[in-house]
Amino acid sequence: MQSDFVSTVSHEFKSPLTSIRQLAEMLQADMVPSEDKRRRYYDVLVEQSERLSMLIDNVLDFARMEEGRREMSREAVDMKSLVEDIVTEAQHRVVHEGFTVRTELEDPLPSAFVDANAIRQALNNLIDNGVKYSGSSREVVVRSFRENAHIVIAVRDFGIGLAPEEANKVFDRFYRSGGELTRSVKGTGLGLTLVKQIVVAHGGDVEVHSEPGRGSTFSMRLPLVADPSVTHKRGRT
Ligand code: ADP
Repeated sequence: MQSDFVSTVSHEFKSPLTSIRQLAEMLQADMVPSEDKRRRYYDVLVEQSERLSMLIDNVLDFARMEEGRREMSREAVDMKSLVEDIVTEAQHRVVHEGFTVRTELEDPLPSAFVDANAIRQALNNLIDNGVKYSGSSREVVVRSFRENAHIVIAVRDFGIGLAPEEANKVFDRFYRSGGELTRSVKGTGLGLTLVKQIVVAHGGDVEVHSEPGRGSTFSMRLPLVADPSVTHKRGRT
């Protein structure tokens, strides 16, 4: 599993790096045919470097979580601005591929006691998966609402979906579905493990509802206030 992991991750790093390098070389050699193209290349450079950073953060933070070295730094966060901000950035990343990422947010949405960076990482992973496993659909919806003492953030896609026996395993470390459709998509099998680690470290839980061929909804349920018995507990799953 370990050596599989090393080769998968290296492979994952290669593709954004290759495109960054090719575009940078074309810009360097002044081989870009038009100003429009030049601007587009800059956009792709930024997108691909963001992708690479997310990938590296996932691997490093997964390791930190596993070793119990990642402390959540929680504070009162305006969830509406946070979710809107994350979705706007995500929309920017995928708009060129024809995707729409939109929000359906309950109004008002309360503040929650969370580590904003960690929630950003978790939500980005869910949105990224919604895009990656979208099949022929081009839409991802991020909903957020209050449920008693929790706030729920749910990411819905209309893509390939999961068989019930797979849905139980997707949060396991390194798990990737064996299906033809999944294998054609890049991934490390770490994204959802990290989502679960982050949510559990907040004292919350994760859930998936999915139907093959119709899409999936991944939900994070986060307690609105800090539970002192959880704050000091480390994020092992
Ligand atoms: P990765 O996407 O890098 O393989 P993840 O941990 O994010 O790793 O996901 C684990 C597996 O769960 C994926 O390989 C895929 O089989 C399945 N999966 C995750 N998100 C979705 C989704 N939105 N729709 C269908 N399958 C999904």
